[in-house]
Amino acid sequence: MANNEESRGLKSLLDWFANRRKSGTTSLERQEREIADGLWHKCAKCGVLTYTKDLKANQMVCVECGHHNRVDSDERIRQLIDQNTWKPMDEHLRPTDPLQFRDRKPYSDRLREMQDKIGLIDAVKTGLGQINGLPVALGVMDFRFMGGSMGSVVGEKLTRMIEQATQRRYPVIIVCTSGGARMQEGMLSLMQMAKISAALQRHRDAKLLYIPILTHPTTGGVTASFAMLGDIILAEPKATIGFAGRRVIEQTIREKLPEDFQSAEDLLKHGFVDDIVPRTQLKNTLTQLIALHQPIPTAPHMVLWESMSLSSSAAE
Ligand SMILES: [Zn+2]
Repeated sequence: MANNEESRGLKSLLDWFANRRKSGTTSLERQEREIADGLWHKCAKCGVLTYTKDLKANQMVCVECGHHNRVDSDERIRQLIDQNTWKPMDEHLRPTDPLQFRDRKPYSDRLREMQDKIGLIDAVKTGLGQINGLPVALGVMDFRFMGGSMGSVVGEKLTRMIEQATQRRYPVIIVCTSGGARMQEGMLSLMQMAKISAALQRHRDAKLLYIPILTHPTTGGVTASFAMLGDIILAEPKATIGFAGRRVIEQTIREKLPEDFQSAEDLLKHGFVDDIVPRTQLKNTLTQLIALHQPIPTAPHMVLWESMSLSSSAAE
């Protein structure tokens, strides 16, 4: 009896393999299904298939060609901030529609749809946390929310975070990605550039460190303000960084622009960016930079040396 069951089990297993081999629906269809399921990821750059789990383990950087896939704000915070140290700030701040703006649809509807779809209230997350034990204030923009555009909420959250950092004497890190100012809030969006820049100036006056990280793409009013005001400006490989779009510039100056125009690499060549850091090395690089810029505590041997030189000069 048991034998019978065993042989039936074995037969069904063999059938399963045979069917699998036979069903020429085959690898291509199966592959497509598995990509759709999110099990596998096809690299947009080199086309190589990677197991999504492996890609995530490599911080969404293609293992084959190094292509940096976009990551959302939550994932970015997970990558940079030590576990259980993240304290989000101003999560209650909601965008409003002061101009009653309407393009193809009302701005207020657009906001509601975005909030429902993505589960974010606006395009930035801010908070305090630790990077390898070093306290920082971190802002992370999220491109999924209206192209990471900067409206009143993005401006206000970043400003409050920078002010907190100044009070606590923390370094500020902002991961930038943005299509620019949010046109639906008109002038109120443009004002955020000056507001954030002023907060950063006060942070700088207090001799504190600010590092923006420019990721793909960083453009418009964000580039024209806080993205370019860093003490040390880092970028991710191949990120597009610019103010106006390539096509607009080409049409204006009536010239073809070089292939690598507005790439992180081109900006590094021209001194707009201080270094290009692959995502997998970002946390370590930040740790080193922040550690280097920690205020030096007055070491006991310095005090001793000072008192010795004082007493020797008194003896003369
Ligand atoms: Zn690739």
